[in-house]
Amino acid sequence: MHDPWKYLLAEEALPAQWYNLQADLPEPLPPVIHPGTGKPIGPDDLAPLFPMAIIAQEVSQERYIDIPEPVRAAYRLWRPTPLHRARGLEQALDTPAHIYYKNETVSPVGSHKPNTALAQVYYNQQEGVRALTTETGAGQWGCALAFAAQHFGLSCEVYMVKVSYQQKPYRRSMMQTYGASVTPSPSEHTQAGRAILERDPDSNGSLGIAISEAVEAAATSGGAKKYSLGSVLNHVLMHQTVIGQEALKQLEMAGEFPDVLVGCIGGGSNFGGFAFPFVREKLAGKRDLRIVAVEPMASPSLTKGQYVYDFGDTAMTTPLMKMYTLGHSFVPAPIHAGGLRYHGMAPLVCHLYDMGLIEAVAYHQNPVFEAAVTFARSEGILPAPEAAHAIKGAIDEALKCKESGEAKVIAFNLCGHGHFDMQAYDDYFAGKLPDYEYPAKAVEQALSELPQVG
Ligand SMILES: *Cc1c(COP(=O)(O)O)cnc(C)c1O
Repeated sequence: MHDPWKYLLAEEALPAQWYNLQADLPEPLPPVIHPGTGKPIGPDDLAPLFPMAIIAQEVSQERYIDIPEPVRAAYRLWRPTPLHRARGLEQALDTPAHIYYKNETVSPVGSHKPNTALAQVYYNQQEGVRALTTETGAGQWGCALAFAAQHFGLSCEVYMVKVSYQQKPYRRSMMQTYGASVTPSPSEHTQAGRAILERDPDSNGSLGIAISEAVEAAATSGGAKKYSLGSVLNHVLMHQTVIGQEALKQLEMAGEFPDVLVGCIGGGSNFGGFAFPFVREKLAGKRDLRIVAVEPMASPSLTKGQYVYDFGDTAMTTPLMKMYTLGHSFVPAPIHAGGLRYHGMAPLVCHLYDMGLIEAVAYHQNPVFEAAVTFARSEGILPAPEAAHAIKGAIDEALKCKESGEAKVIAFNLCGHGHFDMQAYDDYFAGKLPDYEYPAKAVEQALSELPQVG
C-alpha cells in the first residue's frame, strides 16, 4: 500500500443538494435595502434582473436545496473534483503539517465559477430567458458564464474590466469561442460607462464599473435580457457549496478533519463554497477549526473596510447590502489577481467575520507570487494569481507548524489555474510587480461617499 496523493469520489458521490448556510446562522443576515425607500427590498425589485427561482434562493431559509438533474449532469463533466495531499509542498517547506488542497482547476474553464454559472443559466432557461449580461474581471467568470450559456442554449454579453481585457486577451478569445460577445469596460454602450469615460477617459475599469454596465444592459432591455452575477450574492455562494461538501467527504476518506481552512476572497464565493459546510460543523458544535480568508493588500475589504450598507456597484444602481466595504467609488490598483479587485464582500462572509467565526489576512502581490512559484515547483499545478493568495495563506500556516513542531491539518481551496496569467508570472520574474501601498487616502475618500441609511 502506498500513501495516497489524492482522494477521488465516484460520480455517484456528487452532492445531490446545495447547502444553505442561512438556515444555520445564529443571527439572520441584515436585510438588503432599497436605496430609494430605505426599506428592505422585495422580489419585485429584483425581478427585472433575476429569474424567480434565483430570487427565492437568495432569501431561502431551507437548509438544503436540490440540485436540478440537468445541472448535476453538467457538473459530471468534471465533478467531483480531486482533493490532493500536497506532499511535494510539505517536503519543500519541511513542515510537519498535513496540507490538502481541493482542486477546482479541473473544470472546463479552469476555475470554480461554472458551479454557479450552470445553475444560474439553467434557471434562466427554465423561465424563458434567452440572453444574459454580466461583468468579468480576470475573465474567469465571463468564461464560465459563456460556457454555461452555450451549454443550455442562451446568448451571453460580457463587460470585461478594461485592464484585464488588455492583460488577458486569450480569456476574451475563450469567451468568444463559447459564443459570447465581449466589451471592454468602461464602454460607450451604457450610460454608466459613458459617465465614467467622461470623467476619466483612461479609466482602467473595475468590477464595480463593469457591474453597473451589465446591470444597466439587462435593466434597459425591456425584459429580453437578464443579469447574472458570479460572486457576492447568497445564491452564488450556495451553489459553490458542492466544493466544501465534497472536500469534507474526501478529508474523511483521508481520516482527517482540518485544523485550519484557507481560501482567497474577491467577492467571497469560492471561499464560501469551500468553507460553509465546515462552518455548519463548527456551528453545530461538532468540530472546531480556524477558517482564514485571504485578500490582496490592494483591495482589503475585510481587514480594512467598514461594516456598513453600501452599493454593490460604482454607479449606485444596485440595492444596498450590509458588507465590509472600501466604498463603492474605490477603484483598486491593477494587481494581476483581477478576480480579487472588488470594493465589497459577500454579505454572508461579512456576517461570519463580524461574528468572529472566521479570520482574515491581507498580502502584497510579490509574496503571493513567490508562494505561487513554490507551489508550481513542488505540486506541478500553475495557480491563478487569485488562488495563489490561498496558497500563501496555507504556506504561512504550515511554516508556523514548522516553528511549533505541530502536525496540524491545513486545507485550502485551489480555485483556479493560471494558464491565462503568464504575463503576471513574466512580470514577477522580471521584478516588475509593484507591491502597491495600502491606498489609505483613496479608501478614506471612498468611505466618505457612502450612502446614508436609516
Ligand atoms: C473569480 C475568481 C475569484 C474571486 O471570486 P470569489 O467569488 O471570491 O471566489 C478567485 N479565484 C478565481 C480563480 C476566480 O476565478
